Amino acid sequence: MIIFKTVSQLGFFIDKMKASEKKIGFVPTMGALHLGHISLINNSKQQNDITVCSIFVNPTQFNNATDFEKYPVTIETDLDKLEAAGCDAVFLPNAEEVYPKRNATPVYTLGYLETLMEGKFRPGHYQGVCQVVDRLLALVKPANLYLGQKDYQQCMVIKKLIEHKNIDTVIHIEKTVREHDGLAMSSRNARLNDFERKQAVKIFETLSFIKNNLKPGRLESIKGQATAFLSANGFKVDYVEIADAASLEILQQWNGTTSIVALVAAYLNEVRLIDNFVLD
Ligand code: AMP
Repeated sequence: MIIFKTVSQLGFFIDKMKASEKKIGFVPTMGALHLGHISLINNSKQQNDITVCSIFVNPTQFNNATDFEKYPVTIETDLDKLEAAGCDAVFLPNAEEVYPKRNATPVYTLGYLETLMEGKFRPGHYQGVCQVVDRLLALVKPANLYLGQKDYQQCMVIKKLIEHKNIDTVIHIEKTVREHDGLAMSSRNARLNDFERKQAVKIFETLSFIKNNLKPGRLESIKGQATAFLSANGFKVDYVEIADAASLEILQQWNGTTSIVALVAAYLNEVRLIDNFVLD
């Protein structure tokens, strides 16, 4: 596995791969890797000649300084995991490599996607996501990009970025990998203490409750029950929403046929967790 720390080293490698018509699959991450990330690597390996992973804790997508400072960093074990998974190349840049001072900060038109749920509760977050993904795609030039459904809204934002900028990369959205009890794997889970870790499964239980009790008609009551359940279990809830799975338009009622997605974001003390279920 080759490790690149600079844009110029990476660029040289990518040019060589492109010249020999190798198909590149790309998995961008912020590190503290778990089996969710590795499932993306595995999918990329099956569908491409070369798999590139990036590890970069992107400062521009954090709207909360403490969250950024406390984001887990485990580079050595990350590299071991990537090596074991058969990843071909890792890009480990610092912030100056990703954001050279001479470059102006681009602004992305994301419309309503930026005004609801994660966009609403984390102002500026998706601008930061677009900045880093746009830059990384320009450097890695992948044929295929692998993203996790766990970050459902982020997948839609990146889809929009790729469409708007006419980037020649196909997005693959992979299903959420979960712990044995159902908790979605997340780098932030490492910040949970034992009690919080036990409580965290209530997010999965909330989504299961919505899935099992959802009926056509108005959605207020089920969303209210779900929020109350989380609050009663010590969460500070940012949102429980049910949205059109294709457009992410928030629905007040369901016709019983549209494919929908239930999404939750909630804090356990300092740690913010998100998850979602697509309900077909
Ligand atoms: P992150 O390191 O959190 O920025 O995530 C990097 C990529 O891994 C993103 O596309 C995430 O959606 C994806 N990912 C994170 N958690 C999971 C999971 N539990 N299952 C599958 N993919 C995930």
